[in-house]
Amino acid sequence: MLLRNRLSVAGLCLLAATAVASGPAVAQHALEQPALTGFTAKSGIARAPEQEAVVFEHAGLEFRIDPAQRRMDGDAALTFRALKPLSRLVVDLDRNYAVAAVEVDGQALPASAWSNPEGRMTVTLPRPLAAGARTTLRIRYGGHPHVASRAPWDGGFVWSQAPTGEPWVASAIEGEGCDLLWPCIDHPQGEPLLVDEAITVPAPLVAAGNGIALGMDEHDGWRTWRWRAKSPDTYAIAINVGPYELLSADYESRYGNTIPLRFWYLKGNQAKARALFAQFPKMLEFFEATIGPYPFGDEKMGVVETPYLGMEHQTVNAYGNDYKLTEYGYDWLLQHEFAHEWFGNQVTNADWDHMWLHEGFGSYMQPLYLQWLRGDREYDAWLLFQRKFLMNRVPIVSGHSMVEDAVYNDKTGPGNDIYYKGSLLLHTLRNLIGDKAFFAATRELVYGTTDPRPGNFTPRYATTRDFIDAVNKATGRDYGWFFDVYVYSAALPELVASRDATGLSLQWKAPGGKAFPMPLQVRVDGRDIEVPMADGRGHVDLPPHALYTVDPHSRVLRAMPHIDDYQVDVAARLKAAAEAAQQADPRHEERDHGARP
Ligand SMILES: [Zn+2]
Repeated sequence: MLLRNRLSVAGLCLLAATAVASGPAVAQHALEQPALTGFTAKSGIARAPEQEAVVFEHAGLEFRIDPAQRRMDGDAALTFRALKPLSRLVVDLDRNYAVAAVEVDGQALPASAWSNPEGRMTVTLPRPLAAGARTTLRIRYGGHPHVASRAPWDGGFVWSQAPTGEPWVASAIEGEGCDLLWPCIDHPQGEPLLVDEAITVPAPLVAAGNGIALGMDEHDGWRTWRWRAKSPDTYAIAINVGPYELLSADYESRYGNTIPLRFWYLKGNQAKARALFAQFPKMLEFFEATIGPYPFGDEKMGVVETPYLGMEHQTVNAYGNDYKLTEYGYDWLLQHEFAHEWFGNQVTNADWDHMWLHEGFGSYMQPLYLQWLRGDREYDAWLLFQRKFLMNRVPIVSGHSMVEDAVYNDKTGPGNDIYYKGSLLLHTLRNLIGDKAFFAATRELVYGTTDPRPGNFTPRYATTRDFIDAVNKATGRDYGWFFDVYVYSAALPELVASRDATGLSLQWKAPGGKAFPMPLQVRVDGRDIEVPMADGRGHVDLPPHALYTVDPHSRVLRAMPHIDDYQVDVAARLKAAAEAAQQADPRHEERDHGARP
């Protein structure tokens, strides 16, 4: 997902000289709709024992989308294989849907056999399931899906209209989870191994789906679009309906396979869409050369134009950045969401507590791409942009299970630090251990092997510990101290530098007095000197009146008092401006502003 650019982020987002409004987002405030239960509003609550006791082998999902009524009817056939004997099945589903029928292996169940008081639906099986046996649970349901108040951050359905007048409908449900759309296991580890989608929409609308296209039938003024996807992220299963036109091409991969490129853009946007589509091969080339094979090359690289900013929907990424051009000469939003095909969809966090593995890597991919595409100036500029937003109030990994919202909300978790602090610590790690070890460890995290080739890997789950182990394996050393400070501590390490009789005395002060043997460079009169800092201390001899710069290549993420002061100043100015606006017009509403990361 995209950084939540809200004024609450210490008011910092507005400061960006490059701040832009958050795309063609559709305001859907003041909606009257039934409240979500706690179960449904949150994603990543601990799974029920019955959910942990199954392999989710297949989900057959039929969605009928009626934009005129703002209604969705669903028919879900879920096949599970039991790992233990089971007498009940449990799935998560928004209780605001009316359930029309529940069947197990073709047998209709009486209403007494199931209940869904809180959005966690329990179904008593007609007969117990033995370990190793399979069963298919079918649920027919329907109603008005939860409408997003501020997609993609406060998610749900977005019922919009294309500029040409047709319905334009999309879902974005990362924060609340898959249970807003279909009966699922709303936990990062709830991915079905295979999903078949049949999305029925009024003709002549197009429904772009996950995975490969299996065809379309038209009947009685409706069209049913069929799709099949392997191991999609639970929140990646998405509805995208509109008057789309399609751009298609093939990409010849360095790994020998051919990857279909597909872009569904709104009718009328062809010229801009063609220019964006021309960026697809460059991005693929970068990611395949730098990280490894595109994980879904036997399906497609897919992008669809959405009425909200963006979301990493597997093989059908949501794009709503309005084709904005920047001085960097690439579309950061497309590139960020595409990065999630590796960091999020191929490797998925085992628990939301490790979401920095998606967003930190996902955010580091923009400067890294720019370093290749443009050069060091753009790389450094993007990192400096990220640096000024760090909060450092809460560690980016807590060490215990978290729900999505608790991680993204900076009142209860690290919030935006999972993006930019994650990115900047990866920049520091790369400088510390070198490109060879850094990219080997990254490949190990993403694919579970340092030699990924199409066909020798499948989507996997991982934790921060897995990445630390990969770093240690790639380097042959223990870098636990690095992660103890940057990932498991809130405050950044501080460098204390003071002049003494012979030169410059340096000392690291890490939070909690933790060991921090981070080497440094010091530039003295134009010459870069390496300072090992093995025990957290170092010294550089300085001639009288010498000019020096600590860390002249900005390699090490550390506390910067001038940035702290800047953040305080910006927050004060924003607060004063908001108060002045409020006085001038009491109806003035605090606006959300998006900033380019
Ligand atoms: Zn993201």
